[in-house]
Amino acid sequence: MSATPMPGKPVAERIRAEVADEVAELGGLGLATVLVGDDPASQIYIGLKHKAATEAGIRAQDVRLPADVSEADLLEQVAALNEDDEIDAVLVQLPLPDHLDEARVIRGIAPAKDVDGLHPLNAGQLFLGRPTLVGATPLGVMALLAEHGIRVDGARAVVVGRSDIVGKPMAHLLLQANATVSVCHSHTDDLSRYTLDADILVVAAGRAGLVDPDMVKAGSTVIDVGMNRTEAGLVGDVDPGAAEVAGFITPVPGGVGPMTIALLLRNAVRCARYRRNELYFPAL
Ligand code: NAP
Repeated sequence: MSATPMPGKPVAERIRAEVADEVAELGGLGLATVLVGDDPASQIYIGLKHKAATEAGIRAQDVRLPADVSEADLLEQVAALNEDDEIDAVLVQLPLPDHLDEARVIRGIAPAKDVDGLHPLNAGQLFLGRPTLVGATPLGVMALLAEHGIRVDGARAVVVGRSDIVGKPMAHLLLQANATVSVCHSHTDDLSRYTLDADILVVAAGRAGLVDPDMVKAGSTVIDVGMNRTEAGLVGDVDPGAAEVAGFITPVPGGVGPMTIALLLRNAVRCARYRRNELYFPAL
């Protein structure tokens, strides 16, 4: 039997419509993105984010800096956005060129404007179980699970990938929702030993076809975060044949991707509410 598909688009469209209503109620808000260099994938992501933001009535400011920008100039630009009253949310598109220290740049973003939830204050709040701003991709996965009524409380969840932007926050959100969580990575011995035990399997490794059907537990929920550009087009980290084994599965494209954009916009609204003191943001 084939798994029930978990398309992201309909849920994302609903969230984006809600965001548009909230933006109108707030009287507008500003999202600034900073892109360093001309990485083609990053340009596509920034373009999608701007289009979605504009459609929701968000003022989107597109800051582009040359690949050889100095760290001091980049930090100055970020500081200016922190100070800018027209800007509620700031996103620095990663990865940055090698000569720039990503951690230092992220620490330069005002925590209450850190729409990707990467600043140590926001990451720490999540670690402590008091989430403030959390990355859009893991939030999108949680929203998809909720949409399909997937039981998380008590479930065995396995996250493949431990990046700061997807794997780690994903694991924390699942833990907070009372799943029993394992986190796998490139040093994990015998990956299938973990994946086969997963009621919920979230794969965010960036390796096309890493998870094949015989690594998936029958009837489980498989969330494929991976986006890999191959000659065959955009593919995930999970072999599509896994749909014959799983109970629920996200498509690639059209699964987690649209959710990420929608939850980014929702995070921007959250930033605006922090700035207007409608929501409490923990002081430093
Ligand atoms: P990343 O920073 O490159 O992290 C990849 C993670 O996967 C690392 O923790 C790595 O382990 C682990 N890994 C790599 N090869 C592995 C293997 N063979 N077995 C087990 N684990 C392995 O990537 P990311 O930013 O988290 O993104 C992951 C994927 O999700 C990418 O394809 C990206 O394009 C996609 N993505 C999609 C969305 C969306 O909206 N759909 C959003 C963000 C990212 P180590 O830590 O040991 O190196």
